[in-house]
Amino acid sequence: MDFRLSPDQELVRDTVRRFCRDEMMPRAKAIDKTGEFPRDMVKRMGELGLLGMFVPPDYGGAGSDYVSFGLTAEEITRASATCSVIWGANTSLTCGPIYNFGTEEQKHRFLPKLCSGEYLGAYALTEPQAGSDAANLQTTARKEKDEFVLDGQKTFITNGSVADVIVVFATMDKKAGHRGISAFLVPRKSKGLTLGEDFEKMGLHGSPTSQLLFDECRIPAENMVGKPGEGFKIAMATLDTGRIMAAAGSVGIARGCLEESLAYAKERKTFGKPIGEHQAVQFMLADIATNIEAGRLLYLRAASLRDKGERYTKEASMAKVFASEMAMDAAIKGIQIHGGNGYITDYNVERYFRDIKIFEIFEGTSEIQRIVIAREVLGG
Ligand SMILES: Cc1cc2nc3c(=O)[nH]c(=O)nc-3n(C[C@H](O)[C@H](O)[C@H](O)COP(=O)(O)OP(=O)(O)OC[C@H]3O[C@@H](n4cnc5c(N)ncnc54)[C@H](O)[C@@H]3O)c2cc1C
Repeated sequence: MDFRLSPDQELVRDTVRRFCRDEMMPRAKAIDKTGEFPRDMVKRMGELGLLGMFVPPDYGGAGSDYVSFGLTAEEITRASATCSVIWGANTSLTCGPIYNFGTEEQKHRFLPKLCSGEYLGAYALTEPQAGSDAANLQTTARKEKDEFVLDGQKTFITNGSVADVIVVFATMDKKAGHRGISAFLVPRKSKGLTLGEDFEKMGLHGSPTSQLLFDECRIPAENMVGKPGEGFKIAMATLDTGRIMAAAGSVGIARGCLEESLAYAKERKTFGKPIGEHQAVQFMLADIATNIEAGRLLYLRAASLRDKGERYTKEASMAKVFASEMAMDAAIKGIQIHGGNGYITDYNVERYFRDIKIFEIFEGTSEIQRIVIAREVLGG
């Protein structure tokens, strides 16, 4: 067994780390404070080939593997969780289904623009009455001559209000349950698609979380992704990869908590010595450091199975539930180590604490991950 990254994977990690340190980290606090959509960062990620990075060069991507994709998610989220979810919704949730299930024509029409940053993508599965229970979605699609007509509502859609193209899941046959669901590529300028107000959130300020309203929204028939009835399969397969991203991102935030806490523990003195010399603080730092290693091994394992073309559903869910919960714990400990300062917005751990919570919820809640894992280990 060899735990070393390949030279190419190390190169990707180190290049992204340098970009994040020099350009993204200095912007992160201001993005959080103003809530402004970081268009400059999206442009730079496009220039560096990070958007749609696993898409082959023939369609405008960098052709990287999923281990590199995970390493990139860790680095970007370490710098700015906001930029990370914008990147992830475009890369994993939009380029992913188009590349894996789209027609040649769809790949050539959308992927080069999504990889360069000329277009931004979004993935619209969740509805007001269908989050964890995604198969219960109510948005409908019907065929009329050479068009599909969509009616319904989507909620909590990352990038929804800034996206150029949205992967939308809708049912063509409610009685068929999840087998009635199909996937569609909906340009945001489509007639009949309107935006509700973006939500105000606890964290991820600057990442739009949107409501989409479809009222007789018409799209060309060639915009269906996959075959009729394949939508649920496409949605779930896409989320498997998204869970590698969420796990790696969680490790990135936990690393932020550790790095900031280590620096603080060396500098802050109580009772005549740095707090890092008090055993209670050392134990918190030791636990965060150990858990980060475990979380990283889990997401890298899921990513490497994905690269080998093997099944990785269970491993992706294990990585996601473990890493997001351990990063939430790291943020709580990080604030504790900072004392009162940890509660003050001048210190980054305060932002990490607000940003990490959603990683236990989106791409499937912790409870849903445990259901997936239990189903797999029980062999059902
Ligand atoms: C900032 C943000 C960004 C998002 N981005 C996107 C996006 O880009 N695209 C998209 O489609 N969606 C997105 N979502 C939606 C997100 O994926 C859902 O919120 C999530 O899947 C949970 O669904 P829900 O909110 O309906 O909660 P519910 O499904 O109502 O769950 C409520 C609680 O009940 C628990 N629960 C539900 N069913 C079970 C069960 N069977 N057993 C045990 N416990 C259960 C859940 O775990 C949770 O604790 C986003 C959400 C947020 C807040």
